[in-house]
Amino acid sequence: MPRYDVAIVGGGIVGLSVGWAITRRHPKARILVLEKEHCWGHHQTGNNSGEIHSGIHYQPGSLKAQLCRDGNQAMVQFCRDYGIPHEVCGKLIVATEQDELHPLERLYERGRLNGIAAMKLRSEEIREIEAHCTGLAALRVPTTAIVSYRRVAETFADLIQKGNGELQLDKEVKRITVLPFGLLIESSSASYESRFLINCAGLQCDRIARLMGIRTGMRIIPIRGQYYLLRGEKQHLVNGLIYPMPNPCYPFLGAHFNRLLSGEVRVGPNAVVAFKREGYRKMEFDIQDSMELLACRAFWIFARQNWREEGREMLCAFSKTLFLRRLQRLIPEIRPTDLVAGQAGVRAQALMDDGRLMDDFLILQGPRSIHICNAPSPAATASIPIGNAVVDCMQEQGFT
Ligand SMILES: Cc1cc2nc3c(=O)[nH]c(=O)nc-3n(C[C@H](O)[C@H](O)[C@H](O)COP(=O)(O)OP(=O)(O)OC[C@H]3O[C@@H](n4cnc5c(N)ncnc54)[C@H](O)[C@@H]3O)c2cc1C
Repeated sequence: MPRYDVAIVGGGIVGLSVGWAITRRHPKARILVLEKEHCWGHHQTGNNSGEIHSGIHYQPGSLKAQLCRDGNQAMVQFCRDYGIPHEVCGKLIVATEQDELHPLERLYERGRLNGIAAMKLRSEEIREIEAHCTGLAALRVPTTAIVSYRRVAETFADLIQKGNGELQLDKEVKRITVLPFGLLIESSSASYESRFLINCAGLQCDRIARLMGIRTGMRIIPIRGQYYLLRGEKQHLVNGLIYPMPNPCYPFLGAHFNRLLSGEVRVGPNAVVAFKREGYRKMEFDIQDSMELLACRAFWIFARQNWREEGREMLCAFSKTLFLRRLQRLIPEIRPTDLVAGQAGVRAQALMDDGRLMDDFLILQGPRSIHICNAPSPAATASIPIGNAVVDCMQEQGFT
């Protein structure tokens, strides 16, 4: 049976970044990456907004704030070093109502505490940057950038392979047994032994932790986000990235306008609880995923506390007109016929046993293992420092 020093479960951007970090810090380690799909970055990594976030939004002192700010710089440098197309286009966060002006000031202050430079803009200054956008005031964050994270993940995979790591696609991990001197990892078609395991399974990370008998105090709740595309003749309405003020009670930043590297403009995503973890079509349903969710007390606590917000999101998911009404506060010229349905993504959001949505990244340690149990946005931005942090944790656990 093949033996490895570290096995990584999950070939999304986080698992591959961890793999690349290990090749740099432990060049002699035998690394194995197991991915159940036929390509890298098939789930969250390949279905997101493609933004290299600045870090302005996150609670000062949190892992998200620190790793996102460091990750922004590291990701832009990585793209420069490896010739990955990207653009540091900056973004606008726009207050459209009087009662958003004070929160906008607080966001500016939060950015200052997080070490993020932002400029305050008056209403008329917004138009100088985004000619079709209206607002009472805005923040311009110059360090936000855009990239294809799938392309970044593929580059991490190449680097792992060049560092003698082994990459295996189409290998779904089904069983993990803790042995006296290592771990036995069984996939659908092969078995492996490894001294250490890193769980980067995104939407399935709680299940992988459970395979090892680890009590995480959380489960994954899938939150689907639908995007639209602006029709070609309306793409001139958006120059870069335009965001609304976020709802402070939710860990999502709100549907926004997002120019892609291809020149297309994406609008969205919304945020609706899904009944299939890897379901990309509207109303997709999976018996096991749904039963697990509905049978858990935490879900009902969450539902009771958030029914108003979730209800609004669900209505917007079914009515393009309602969805658009929010966005018309930013660009009033947009009409329902200007939007065509685009792709969707599903966020792996940790729901804690007490019904709270986990706001920060969550990295847990188990026997001979590390489990990335909450890595929603901005984990793609932060993937390089997350990789370094995981190697630090491995060393603390005695990995040499
Ligand atoms: C709609 C949306 C918009 C977003 N926008 C942004 C953004 O603009 N900027 C940003 O920084 N972040 C953004 N994010 C978040 C970002 O995409 C994620 O934080 C990041 O991709 C997480 O990477 P990951 O590797 O943990 O997960 P994933 O990319 O989901 O990878 C996990 C991998 O594990 C594999 N796997 C699962 N189970 C097994 C198993 N049993 N055996 C083997 N393999 C397994 C899966 O197939 C998958 O490939 C967004 C996310 C979504 C959904």
